[in-house]
Amino acid sequence: MDRRKILIKGGTVISINNNQLVNDQLDVLIEDDKISEINKSIITGDDFTVLDANRMIVLPGFVDTHRHLWESPFKGMASNWTLMEYLQIMLGKIAPTMSADDVYAANLLGAIEAINSGITTIFDWSHIMNTPEHSSAAIKGLKDSGIRGKFGFGTPGTSVWEWFYESKLKHPLDAKEIRTKHFNSEDDLITMALAIRGPEYSDLEVAKHDILLGRELDLQISMHIGGGTFGPKYNGIQKLNNEKLLDSDLNFAHANTINENDFKLLADHGCSISVTPEVELQMGLGLPITGKALKFGIPTGLGIDVISASSGSMFDQMKIALQAERAIQNEKSYQNLQMLDKLTISDIDVLKLATIGGAKVLGLDHKIGSLEVGKQADIILININDIGLSPTLNLVSSVVLYAKDQDVDTVMIAGKIVKRNGKLLNFNIKELLKKASQIANKSLE
Ligand SMILES: [Zn+2]
Repeated sequence: MDRRKILIKGGTVISINNNQLVNDQLDVLIEDDKISEINKSIITGDDFTVLDANRMIVLPGFVDTHRHLWESPFKGMASNWTLMEYLQIMLGKIAPTMSADDVYAANLLGAIEAINSGITTIFDWSHIMNTPEHSSAAIKGLKDSGIRGKFGFGTPGTSVWEWFYESKLKHPLDAKEIRTKHFNSEDDLITMALAIRGPEYSDLEVAKHDILLGRELDLQISMHIGGGTFGPKYNGIQKLNNEKLLDSDLNFAHANTINENDFKLLADHGCSISVTPEVELQMGLGLPITGKALKFGIPTGLGIDVISASSGSMFDQMKIALQAERAIQNEKSYQNLQMLDKLTISDIDVLKLATIGGAKVLGLDHKIGSLEVGKQADIILININDIGLSPTLNLVSSVVLYAKDQDVDTVMIAGKIVKRNGKLLNFNIKELLKKASQIANKSLE
């Protein structure tokens, strides 16, 4: 299919670019990799491919701001685990068994699975850098999928005991070679970031070294923070602030158990947060802080985190984020023997987190996250004909509360169609799934 000239005709556009979120029946014109016009009844020449979007929602692609793609073959492995079991088994036992080939297949499969769910941009937090070949394989898997995103270069998965748990090992310096070898332009679909342990999983001196390494290479730097008892135990945000290290290039995953003053510090320094609600609720990280992050005006996005425990679907994460936040506020009110007059968070708020919010977290909001002329054509079409979605009185809630991966009819990344009529294009999914089950079976031996 010609990717250069596409007209999406007659869909209901949810543009996310202003307060009037739903722009009603509009056509969207795509030329090369960009959106060139959004208007009523656009007339084009015969050289345009027309996608009929009648009874479809036209939406910017979702942004997953935090996922460990290498775990893609292990669906269900961690679904009954605590965080400590996860660290000991997934990182302690499984990670060392992964070959470079396994990581390639896992990353490719995971990125395609994300695309199937309407995710067009992903942050791959890759702590499986066991050898330089593993790094190359992870990057190739991401690039071959056609997804947009950031490759978060992490630490080796060879020993969780040495590399996590108050680690005294500095981040591998081959970050520099990786940058030069694989990442030459910020215009590429995949760019580089640094995925560091930070003050909850490494020594403060190590965390400091790692942050300065990221800054030397001009990379966004992501770390886990505020996971259960680790939050108050290590007081990581405060420590980073004392060292004057907080800045807008820092991204924090979870942040469940950081304190009120920490939120203020993150807001003051323009740091971002990735909420991964499903796994946070399961693994005892703490209650999702979606509402708090919004209250403090912190750039916030959603993430899937570990497909070994959570659903890979952004629809599920939006719904869980929304209802968990409502549960927290309702319970607080109930504890004061009151019922809330109004809910404090809406479907629109979480839809923004999954799109423009995530784009801001990754520093890509000038390119993606909303449907606007001049932005990259990362667009999804959601079919609302299904009995589970129809009839509808609220198109935003159709996306947030009712839609499923199978309702994603079309996915386009940088103007290139990668899913159409509900089917992924260009990939041998059967072969990939076969390889994934071989990897999973090997890990169980
Ligand atoms: Zn994570």
